[in-house]
Amino acid sequence: MKNIIEIIHADITTLAVDAIVNAANNTLLGGGGVDGAIHRGAGPGLLQECAALQGCETGDAKITGGYGLPARHVIHTVGPVWKDGKHGEPELLGSSYRRCFEVAHQHGLKSIAFPAISAGVYGYPMREAAVIALSAAQSAITLYPELERIIFVQFSEGAQQVYLEAAARLGIMSDQADC
Ligand code: ADP
Repeated sequence: MKNIIEIIHADITTLAVDAIVNAANNTLLGGGGVDGAIHRGAGPGLLQECAALQGCETGDAKITGGYGLPARHVIHTVGPVWKDGKHGEPELLGSSYRRCFEVAHQHGLKSIAFPAISAGVYGYPMREAAVIALSAAQSAITLYPELERIIFVQFSEGAQQVYLEAAARLGIMSDQADC
């Protein structure tokens, strides 16, 4: 049987899934990193829809269409900025993942792809971020039996390796690919 969790090396904007997740900022009006790439791929319609959402709290998530992207939807979440790990960062990052899965469930989505939320410009240590991401996926699989694919997309092979090691430590069976 195919594993539900996949850990791949790819550009998230190329994936034809029900939803890709955007590591956005509180304004939802675009930014650098994966946010910039998603807006470039989707085109101006995405920014227009985002502007009507009136921002997003840290740890929350909101859904839009995918516009010019191969993905049908974008789920925008705002992860925490890393300070020292003692300012609620793990709880907020866990909340971001949980809310993405909740929103996906509310829309009947079966395949969802995540970047490493907060682990770029926001500075969250990749190893710790990977454990939170993978643990959230384990819980979601139990809560939402309709989920068919949960894809963790890494932009570098180094980050993919960190995720694979975290999955092994957590006893998670995952498929891996280099797209
Ligand atoms: P944050 O501000 O939440 O830290 P970033 O966009 O700076 O978000 O980075 C989050 C992660 O997404 C980083 O690991 C970065 O390498 C990765 N990333 C950037 N662009 C892409 C992309 N096109 N596809 C997948 N991952 C990406």
